[in-house]
Amino acid sequence: MLEIKNLHVQLEEEDKKILKGVDLVVEPGKVHAIMGPNGSGKSTLSYVLSGRDGYEVTDGTATLDGEDLLEMEPEERAAAGLFLAFQYPVEIPGVGNMTFLRTAVNAQRKARGQEEMSSTEFLKVIREKAKELKIDAEMLKRPVNVGFSGGEKKRNEILQMAMLEPRMCILDETDSGLDVDAMKLVSDGVNALRDAGRGFLVITHYQRLLNHIKPDVVHIMSDGRIVKTGGPELALEVEENGYADILGEVA
Ligand code: ADP
Ligand code: MG
Ligand code: MG
Repeated sequence: MLEIKNLHVQLEEEDKKILKGVDLVVEPGKVHAIMGPNGSGKSTLSYVLSGRDGYEVTDGTATLDGEDLLEMEPEERAAAGLFLAFQYPVEIPGVGNMTFLRTAVNAQRKARGQEEMSSTEFLKVIREKAKELKIDAEMLKRPVNVGFSGGEKKRNEILQMAMLEPRMCILDETDSGLDVDAMKLVSDGVNALRDAGRGFLVITHYQRLLNHIKPDVVHIMSDGRIVKTGGPELALEVEENGYADILGEVA
């Protein structure tokens, strides 16, 4: 479903190559993890897939269900079923969380040629999902992310993911790192949304997140390429021996 072939990416501003031929296929129902040392291009991959400015694709393709992602605007990618966690961490004063989510859900439905959700139906769905995720009804009414704690923001992101029902979720747990509680929130949320038709790409520098989200496939990225692919045991190998051993072996 998500298919990346020979993806080459460089910065728009300067002549710096970051991705140097990434090949990756994530099948429906599977959780793929990408691990790798800092600076190997993991975040760049997620940014390029989400359509962030500043990157130029110089070769290769990326498709979701056969549709060319790279040709789409970011909102079209979302409509096609791509969700990048932490793509809405921004605070939006004056816009209620519920209003924001309803707008996002209906924009996506419209782009998919589906009817808008009535406010009654929307309320019912969001209350159910919020309850499942142990989100306080109070949080739904507050302005988006304004004054939310780190944990509340995480919860809210998982709620966004649950409401948008994406085909393919990409989670980039970047350098900020997650504390134990936030990690549990994210992994419980992801595990609750695992489904035969949905794929996940979990990007992480550390193995610990993968103790909670059991990946089906683990990839190691180094210097803009995926250099090794294996099962969950590969993540444990990284935990035990660090990246140097694996990268030395590959070289
Ligand atoms: P990772 O997520 O694996 O740590 P990144 O994708 O963040 O790696 O970065 C890959 C490389 O590209 C790094 O050397 C980083 O410094 C560089 N890079 C990424 N984005 C930019 C940018 N906007 N400007 C300058 N360098 C960048
Ligand atoms: Mg980094
Ligand atoms: Mg990163």
